Amino acid sequence: MSHTPTPTADALAPFWMPFTANRSFKERPRLFTGARGMYYRTSDGRQVLDGIAGLWCVNAGHAQPAIVAAIKAQAEQLDYISSFQMSHPAAFELAARLASLAPGDLRHVFFTNSGSEAVDTALKIARGYHRARGETARTKLIGRARGYHGVGFGGVSVGGIGRHKRDFGPLLPDVDHLSLPYDPTRSSFSRGQPSAGAEYADELSSLIALHGEGTIAAVIVEPVTGSGGVFPPPQGYLRRLRELCTRHGILLIFDEVITGFGRVGRSFAAELFGVVPDLIVCAKGMTNGAVPMGAALVSSEVFDAYMGKPSDQIEFPHGYTYSAHPLACAAALAALDVYRDQQLFERAAELAGTWQEAVHSLRGMPFVTDIRNVGLLAAIDLAPLEGAPGARGVALNQACFAADVLIRTAGDTVLLSPPLVISSSEIARLIETITAGLRTMS
Ligand code: PLP
Repeated sequence: MSHTPTPTADALAPFWMPFTANRSFKERPRLFTGARGMYYRTSDGRQVLDGIAGLWCVNAGHAQPAIVAAIKAQAEQLDYISSFQMSHPAAFELAARLASLAPGDLRHVFFTNSGSEAVDTALKIARGYHRARGETARTKLIGRARGYHGVGFGGVSVGGIGRHKRDFGPLLPDVDHLSLPYDPTRSSFSRGQPSAGAEYADELSSLIALHGEGTIAAVIVEPVTGSGGVFPPPQGYLRRLRELCTRHGILLIFDEVITGFGRVGRSFAAELFGVVPDLIVCAKGMTNGAVPMGAALVSSEVFDAYMGKPSDQIEFPHGYTYSAHPLACAAALAALDVYRDQQLFERAAELAGTWQEAVHSLRGMPFVTDIRNVGLLAAIDLAPLEGAPGARGVALNQACFAADVLIRTAGDTVLLSPPLVISSSEIARLIETITAGLRTMS
């Protein structure tokens, strides 16, 4: 077993780490040097069970040989080509593959390099769509409380997590938010979708009345709130939101950065919930996390609205140096093959029942106040320690890591999203480790 020496504080200082308490981390660094299947290898030579698929992204497990080989081969053959006025065959092949997985008539694909960029792209597409149709007053964007849509100014503006927004304003004007459709008095410990709460969708009617008919461009929601705490939508909620958007000419955007590519047992959550949005934002599992990539999947109606200009004009003045990067396209095509060949979306759907039983077995454990789940996603809320919110989350995270299990905690909420290749015995180990951690905490 190889051990890598822990770097000195000086060596760690230059990397300003994202979403990290840098000073605490650098006192107790957590470094990984390898990964295969369900396990990470740490710098001190331990094998750690990955309970969070990296960061909700490594859906097929780590270092899938076909994905590794595809990236290597692509790097040798064509390392880079822009997609501004040129491109490469794999980009078109991947767009067609994604369109064939998408619901309804979401037939067009705009490539980005991350979920954040895909969100901002989708918001711009929505505004431009209304502009192209002459509805110039439709500029307002509606997000939802607890929503996470990445860290671009657009995504932060429509996002609903206060601490991500507070210090960076002014954010985009013309933004408003729906409430989180969740009432703990009626829905705590729901298994899957809560039965109560479809009426939360009717808040959109109030926002239309408040801002004026014909002023809202788009509503963006995660079909299952992810980073904000894994909140599956109440039964009927998304359908009601869809109906209201259609009735009032508002585009509906699903941010499926987490829920896409098998996480809920289908290609997209739109399919699971039987609701077709006008745009889907995706990333993460698209390449199995192996190369950064995101995309906005766009309906034919929205795309066609951009095609009214003379054919020699750029229809959408937007894009990234690395849009449709050859390595990302190669990784994504290989990931889609792995998902299909190993039937991983079906596997996730089959395992979802076992997963649900396992996570709900934590009910009654010390400090557990709520448990939510759908597909291979789950959240466990802990009662905060008085005067020290977040401390129990940190303590549990550390206890699990000491027992060679990687979980994610946001404040006092545990967020779980294992690779879809997790076995029943690994699910049992994950839950036993959390149980043991909770039992030792005060
Ligand atoms: N949207 C959702 C729902 C996410 O969960 C995330 C990241 O976790 C993003 C957008 C942002 O993606 P990225 O971190 O790739 O920019």
